[in-house]
Amino acid sequence: MARVAFIGLGNMGGGMAANLAKAGHDVRAFDLSADALVRAEGAGCLRADTAAAAADGAEAIVTMLPAGRHVAEVYEAVCAVAAPGAVLIDSSTIDVATAREVAARASGLGLHPVDAPVSGGIAAAASGALTFMVGGSDQAFALAEPYLSAMGRAVIHAGAPGAGQAAKICNNMILGATMAATCEAFLLAERLGLDAQAFYDIASVSSGQSWSMTSYCPVPGVGPETPADRDYQGGFAGALMLKDLRLAVEAAHDAGSPVPMGDRARQLYEALAGAGEGGRDFSALLPYLRGGGGAPA
Ligand code: NAD
Repeated sequence: MARVAFIGLGNMGGGMAANLAKAGHDVRAFDLSADALVRAEGAGCLRADTAAAAADGAEAIVTMLPAGRHVAEVYEAVCAVAAPGAVLIDSSTIDVATAREVAARASGLGLHPVDAPVSGGIAAAASGALTFMVGGSDQAFALAEPYLSAMGRAVIHAGAPGAGQAAKICNNMILGATMAATCEAFLLAERLGLDAQAFYDIASVSSGQSWSMTSYCPVPGVGPETPADRDYQGGFAGALMLKDLRLAVEAAHDAGSPVPMGDRARQLYEALAGAGEGGRDFSALLPYLRGGGGAPA
């Protein structure tokens, strides 16, 4: 089994590192948080005092960090000490430009980088049920695949470096926009006197159907159990959806690609977070709209 460094042991990374250790790898873990390090030790990882100490001689280095600047900073430290030809797996959700920059630098040092952001939340990270969308060379993908398979259920090669991040933000832009449309449709249905269950029964088998409706219905008591049934606690926080929509709009701006729906969804999630609701699940847009939020400025 391999020598693996894992940097970033938060909500997602903690479970992912534990699954690599469970698969028999020698996992050296580092995080700025002492509590996160204690949890990682309890899950079978060896604690390191710095990112460089974790990465020293590692054949694989996995990062799960908040944003591009953290990844760039950690890569400065780890690339210099990784084993020759090591695979670098960044599963953080970051901007496409930084993903391409860090990959180019790592490749220049003879390392094999992939961007491998995930779909699936904290529960999927803990149970090893994540989906990985991977950007990188064929060789880097082949090296990364066994580690990703130990942490997820689906591992898909999206294309060249940055393609994983591109897939992630395009997917989540669809999710943000369809959730917003689903929330406003349920609210309009309610105000037109339609029963929510009756509307669900119709739209879920009609052309208004989407994942936001049938797998993640924002109405309590309707459809499968979702965060709406737990007063919008847990799930995927509105603040994280806002982060992904900002990345999508920024990438669209750089690429000169129009995203009027994505940008409107970003504004709605900005307003939701501005109202102090960013910690609740992103489907809490429904009660926010019901309360009069989201009106155009
Ligand atoms: P988190 O804030 O819980 O964890 C991030 C960890 O990184 C923290 O423990 C922090 O101490 C650590 N960290 C920050 N800078 C560091 C550094 N320089 N060196 C070492 N450790 C450092 O975040 P999370 O929810 O685990 O998310 C991680 C990434 O996964 C983000 O990019 C997020 O957008 C993405 N993501 C999250 C979810 C989710 O449901 N939480 C789902 C999909 C993708």
